[in-house]
Amino acid sequence: MSFEVNYAERVTRLPVYLFVKLENMRNQALSEGRDVINLGVGDPDMPTPSFIVESMRSAVTKTENHCYPSNDGKLVFREAVAKWFRGRFNVELDPKTEIMSLIGSKEGLGHVPFAFINPGDVALVPSPGYPVYSNCTTLAGGEPYIMPLLKENHFLPDLTAIPTEILKRAKLMFLNYPNNPTAAVADKDFFKRVVEFAEINNIIVCHDAAYTEMSFDGYQPPSFMEVEGAKEVGIEFHSLSKTYRMTGWRIGYAVGNPEILKGLFKIKSNIDSGVFSAIQDAAVVALAGGAEEVAEMRRTYEQRRDVFVKGLHGLGWDVELPKATFYVWAKAPGRLPDSEVVEKILAEADIVAAPGSGYGETGEGFVRFALTVPTSRLREAISRLAEITF
Ligand SMILES: *Cc1c(COP(=O)(O)O)cnc(C)c1O
Repeated sequence: MSFEVNYAERVTRLPVYLFVKLENMRNQALSEGRDVINLGVGDPDMPTPSFIVESMRSAVTKTENHCYPSNDGKLVFREAVAKWFRGRFNVELDPKTEIMSLIGSKEGLGHVPFAFINPGDVALVPSPGYPVYSNCTTLAGGEPYIMPLLKENHFLPDLTAIPTEILKRAKLMFLNYPNNPTAAVADKDFFKRVVEFAEINNIIVCHDAAYTEMSFDGYQPPSFMEVEGAKEVGIEFHSLSKTYRMTGWRIGYAVGNPEILKGLFKIKSNIDSGVFSAIQDAAVVALAGGAEEVAEMRRTYEQRRDVFVKGLHGLGWDVELPKATFYVWAKAPGRLPDSEVVEKILAEADIVAAPGSGYGETGEGFVRFALTVPTSRLREAISRLAEITF
């Protein structure tokens, strides 16, 4: 008797998720007892602020929180989002129809193609980009069409370069600013052009806004929703993960066009049952009272950025000072492909970094460092990198 496990084609077609690979590399090095500096995965190294943890402690004892949550989020949570959005972006959102909770923004980004993509339809995805956009388009039976993000265009897609036959088949467009992995930012002029493009071609815009609060030098990244017409053509995905160091809690939300949100809701409500109500209560507390913690977070990453980027400049690396995100997107030094540069850095300096090509073909030749260790460790990383000949 032999039992065969046969995966569906969509599973075999899917690449190994980038961070699974990174995690394996890091674990291998750690198991060999090496002093690893992990600049690979974008996960904040500091714990969730204690006032949020404390609010969770009491929320979890409330019996009404023990039942199935409402599928699209408690009204108090959605009202807290509306209030925060008004304060931060001066945008009015109807909590009942224009805001929906997500089990982390990744969940919503991954499910949205299933609501709008028929077999053979196209989703426009940035490359390099967060792998979820293209992988979940493929899972939904669609075809990702790559919009290259090039340094000479400040890592913004060239909307005029997309062929007409692709535009006819395109149903969705994914964007993400401030951007992972390039750390690029977009201004409202770009968003205005996106709205116009979306209206002309009838393409739904999905803007991933995970990093709007992680910015430096006083710069305030805009929301796509700030631009006139954005709420008609698109939705925006927000996350509490990076802003409030709540990556493990799994809570985010989508805002924007109610009809688009309804499509996403229909998929979601057939698959999951919403966010644990106690976590939503804690998120309300975070949104209402987190301003000081967020300001402190910005100062911390700004210092780290300054130490690390200055260090890389001293070593002759070609890299820009990012205005936002906790990523440093550097041209891979020497002539080796970025994947080999990353392997070399791990082998010779015990530093984990992410290969640019892991975020799509256009990421080739770059290395992404996440500033997820204290400045002393970043200095140590720089002195280790100084010893390597590329
Ligand atoms: C971290 C990240 C997310 C995921 O956030 P969650 O809310 O934790 O799911 C989404 N998009 C980008 C670009 C990210 O880097």
